[in-house]
Amino acid sequence: MLVGVPREIKANEYRVGLTPGSAREYVANGHQLVVETGAGAGIGAGDDAYAAVGATIVASAGEVFQRAQMIVKVKEPQPSEWVQLRAGQILFTYLHLAPDPAQAKGLLDSGCTAIAYETVTDRSGALPLLAPMSEVAGRLSIEAAGSALRRHSGGRGLLLGGVPGVKAARVMIIGGGVVGTHAARMAVGLGAEVTIIDRSVARLRQLDELFSGRVRTRMSTIGNIEEELAEADATVGAVLVPGASAPRLVSRASLSKMKPGAVLIDVAIDQGGCFETSRPTTYENPTYEVDGIIHYCVANMPGAVPMTSSEALNNATLPFGLALAARGLEALSHDPHLLEGLNIHAGQVTNLAVARALNRPY
Ligand code: NAD
Repeated sequence: MLVGVPREIKANEYRVGLTPGSAREYVANGHQLVVETGAGAGIGAGDDAYAAVGATIVASAGEVFQRAQMIVKVKEPQPSEWVQLRAGQILFTYLHLAPDPAQAKGLLDSGCTAIAYETVTDRSGALPLLAPMSEVAGRLSIEAAGSALRRHSGGRGLLLGGVPGVKAARVMIIGGGVVGTHAARMAVGLGAEVTIIDRSVARLRQLDELFSGRVRTRMSTIGNIEEELAEADATVGAVLVPGASAPRLVSRASLSKMKPGAVLIDVAIDQGGCFETSRPTTYENPTYEVDGIIHYCVANMPGAVPMTSSEALNNATLPFGLALAARGLEALSHDPHLLEGLNIHAGQVTNLAVARALNRPY
């Protein structure tokens, strides 16, 4: 198959759909690649790195869209890209269509087949193409907490791990899923005192086993969260209720019971946020203060580390992308998990949840 990789054009997006390593795998499997010049610049991969593994470099996105049978990207296509897609062409990327009717219309009008990373499933019903970005965001959340806790950032002036003879900071993590587990790994590794709160006892049991006594686990109740909040130097919000906005677990009134200069990191901000006082921020201006509490609510955290994020994303997408390149749409009938990723085909919405959210026929 002829596979195309355009340069990402969404603001502040530095990741790339295929790394040179993945490009090599496609070529080794007998596929042809067209890559837009500069596509890998955000991860330090020049055109020469793609050319060296057998890809053809082209001067414009237009040429990629015109020639490729399948387009592999990272972010949802932008309006200038909708109009370049065509019937019969496969688009494999993050789409997040439910809250985006304009994009849905653009893709439906194009007639293309759009397969969304975020709805591909695995055997346990989890979302394997979302997980790598949650791993990245979870690990970054503790770096963000460490930075926000510094005095010059407005924080309490604490080092997360303390030093010998000085107590470590207390970190509460609400939500012990992928983000929460990776946040806990980092916090424990730095020597912080860590409590994980989740509403699933089964999950708390797994976490207790995993961390062998290095973290405390507590059930998610209003009382437990209030108690931990009063003691915490940093709190990471990492909850997810599939298909719903994040539940609000910390009210504005509770901020007055926290230690002045304590930090709230709301990773769940992309689902509306789990603290009442959260509002989305960007890396240009990541933090703000409410009632003496520092808030960090960057909506696209993995965007800060495009090298790590692109490679992690490629590790997860590569087997699916290669299957699509080898068999075209027939790959969907061989893999029910990849089929779950099918959001739009030939002018129809083909994912039930997405159709419902968009109020479109299914
Ligand atoms: P996940 O499904 O792996 O884990 C979510 C956890 O939250 C589950 O263990 C669940 O039991 C728990 N939970 C649900 N309701 C709860 C409650 N009321 N109290 C306590 N725990 C509760 O999800 P994930 O992949 O870890 O993602 C977590 C959040 O991070 C999501 O909102 C996701 O969209 C977001 N995220 C944001 C970024 C970013 O850049 N800001 C990046 C990746 C993920």
